[in-house]
Amino acid sequence: MHELGIVFEIQKRVTAVAQENGLSLRDIAQVVVEVGEASTIVPRYLKECWPAATDGTEMQEAELVVEVLIAKVRCKKCGTVYEYLKNHKKCPACGAWECVMVTGQEFNIKEIAVFEGEEE
Ligand SMILES: [Zn+2]
Repeated sequence: MHELGIVFEIQKRVTAVAQENGLSLRDIAQVVVEVGEASTIVPRYLKECWPAATDGTEMQEAELVVEVLIAKVRCKKCGTVYEYLKNHKKCPACGAWECVMVTGQEFNIKEIAVFEGEEE
């Protein structure tokens, strides 16, 4: 399970973004990440690792939201773009197997939301 390493990577990137924007880590309410369906990351494990990795840190109040991006590929023969897993990896238009990945292997931090209107 490499998800814990990924969670630490998310924390590192969020920390960097917070510093760049003059935000305190305590102000972060939500971190939204995008994970491609064809990536090796399991969203459920990410979510399970998150509390363990953030517990006792300044980010412990932040919630992790994982959005899964559908894997799409383009057929090398006819150029059709189709959903890779839904079509069992085969082009629905011409039946070819050769394709190029268009989306589905991403791993991005999409959004960092901060708590609003809560003065301490
Ligand atoms: Zn095709």
